[in-house]
Amino acid sequence: MSNNRSLFTQVRDLDPAETVTLGDGRDLEVKSVGTVVLEMLLPDGSSRRCSLQRVLYVPKLAYNLVSVSRATEAEKTVTFSRKGCEFLNSCGQTIAFATKQGSLYHLELCRKSQESVHAVQKENKERLWHRRFGHLNKQSLQKLVKKELVNRLDYDTSGRVGICESCIGGKQSKVPFKTSTTKTSEPLELVHSDLCGKMGEKSVGGAEYFLTFLDHHTRCILSRGRTKPSVLSETGRLKWKIELVDD
Ligand SMILES: [Zn+2]
Repeated sequence: MSNNRSLFTQVRDLDPAETVTLGDGRDLEVKSVGTVVLEMLLPDGSSRRCSLQRVLYVPKLAYNLVSVSRATEAEKTVTFSRKGCEFLNSCGQTIAFATKQGSLYHLELCRKSQESVHAVQKENKERLWHRRFGHLNKQSLQKLVKKELVNRLDYDTSGRVGICESCIGGKQSKVPFKTSTTKTSEPLELVHSDLCGKMGEKSVGGAEYFLTFLDHHTRCILSRGRTKPSVLSETGRLKWKIELVDD
């Protein structure tokens, strides 16, 4: 939750406005919801850019607050100690650190973070060309200008592209899964299932989730749209097994 609208890189106004109840029982108005990108200062002196999703804009809030439960929902691990509070990603890397000051934990941010976040608000021509060339990196854009490879390319090589949220999201990587050594001898002996959602848009049939089944032996895949994030009942499971065999 933030009281500073200029920190948001993407924001959607809520109409009608919603309310949030604070720890002291007060209800405050939530005007908008959006994304905030912050440059976190880590204990080893390095920095890391973090994109906070679904941040609430609450104008009357006294402090900017980070929800620990939201962080853990997003598969981050949060550990508290006498020194401070550490946020780890799913690979166990530290992504943010908060030092204990009195009874509160203050998130350590790079000084330039606020400037950077402000900078992203303004669309500059460097950022525009970065997007026009399919999110091309700065070095390659500079090469295009220096070698005069593109006519009328109005790109200032000393200018800054700033934070590009799409690039941050697109370049995030995940540690690969371990190679499976499990062997099966017949179809349906082992079935892997996964539920995906909630999607931003509903399907024509009203589904906001989809459930996939993968038969380990035959590698047959079935997917089913779901309106709720629930797994299938026993009857449902039997039904799709029949479908899988028929297919
Ligand atoms: Zn980009």
